[in-house]
Amino acid sequence: MRTLIKNSHILTMDAKRTEYSDGYIIIEDDEILGIGSYVHFSKQETDFDEVIDAHQTIAIPGMVNTHTHIGMVPFRSLGDDYPDRLRRFLFPLEKACMTKELAYHSGKYAIAEMQMAGITTFADMYYFEDALAQATDEMKSRAILGETVVDFPTCDAPKSHGGIGYAEEFIPKWLDHELITPAIAPHAPNTNHSQALKKAAALSEKYNIPMTMHVAEMDYEMNYFSEKYNATPIEFLQSIGVLSTRFIAAHCIHVSDHDLQILKQEGVGVAHCIGANTKSAKGVAPIKDMLNLAIPVGLGTDGPSSGNTLDLFTQMKLVANFHKTALHDRTAFPAKEILAMATIEGAKVLNMANEIGSLEVGKKADIVLVETKSVNMFPIFDPYAALVYSANASNVQDVFINGTTIVRDKQLVNYDLMDLRSNLTIEMAHFSKKAKELA
Ligand SMILES: [Zn+2]
Repeated sequence: MRTLIKNSHILTMDAKRTEYSDGYIIIEDDEILGIGSYVHFSKQETDFDEVIDAHQTIAIPGMVNTHTHIGMVPFRSLGDDYPDRLRRFLFPLEKACMTKELAYHSGKYAIAEMQMAGITTFADMYYFEDALAQATDEMKSRAILGETVVDFPTCDAPKSHGGIGYAEEFIPKWLDHELITPAIAPHAPNTNHSQALKKAAALSEKYNIPMTMHVAEMDYEMNYFSEKYNATPIEFLQSIGVLSTRFIAAHCIHVSDHDLQILKQEGVGVAHCIGANTKSAKGVAPIKDMLNLAIPVGLGTDGPSSGNTLDLFTQMKLVANFHKTALHDRTAFPAKEILAMATIEGAKVLNMANEIGSLEVGKKADIVLVETKSVNMFPIFDPYAALVYSANASNVQDVFINGTTIVRDKQLVNYDLMDLRSNLTIEMAHFSKKAKELA
């Protein structure tokens, strides 16, 4: 299958940040076969199975969401402003109501939301990851899927740290999948015994798969390690030997200079979730310092209850607003740098930059066309600024993942969004009843 996309303003996000103001992209099967200025296009359009005239669009690489929880759509807008939301709503409802079926239907809905927002790759951490892998496979997204490990019984594992046993079956099952990378995801440093963390790291090493974890997110996490080990969580994780280039650390809000040196030394990538971190009043991670040390930093939405939306347009704006304000510098984090975090830098965090994150010949055809016809997209003096400051997820027009058309003219190609929603609504009946009782 050969597809030609023509007449788009292409932001390749390659190392030179090459742009083509009137560009073309050739997709062959799952790969980008050609890219350039249309004035240099020398082939016949009849050579293609499909020709897409993408005038009034900006083409960008598929966006990379480095941290989310796709099984948690049912929790969205529940208890948002309560101080004890985690223990009042999340833990009890997960224990009482989260099932394989609910996670699966939530996963499909969350993936649809991400696809329609131009996210083609995501890194997930939740329970029932086997069901979420099924959902991801059906929706045809690219993903890292990490099974949660935590020191109490959970909805998918009756014993504490049962996620390890779950993962031992889950990982080999999905290891050879074209789009899915199974992973192990200990919940946080303070919610796991060090032996479990070491076992998780051993699985990551054995299968050469990612290990992802919430790190340095909570005040009480910092106090716990300070009192118990006279260390920071990151110092502790290094001391037990679980950090590596396969490690994806979500949040990293409370980090010392020494912690940053450790992240750099161990080759850890950081998933920056500015929306979730600031909505919950946890703080603003010092990502300028991370970037100065060349630590890879990508953007994450966190779960649908933490960040409420699963799109990176929202996150990009929040990155600009919070970091410019925190640094008292409006020139900090220019739009081009922020779009890089949503694409190529996110791919680096996930160790997938050889395959995705930029539009280059030989890379996978994960491509997003953002339309510029809508009222909010005029005029455009700088396409990067237009994407970061003006655009929102509803401007995403077409999405290709691995060369396959997933979204066309703002609609899912293979699914009806209302069907996905009604399936999830039916599955949520018990959950919704219980949630109202707790509110
Ligand atoms: Zn999270």
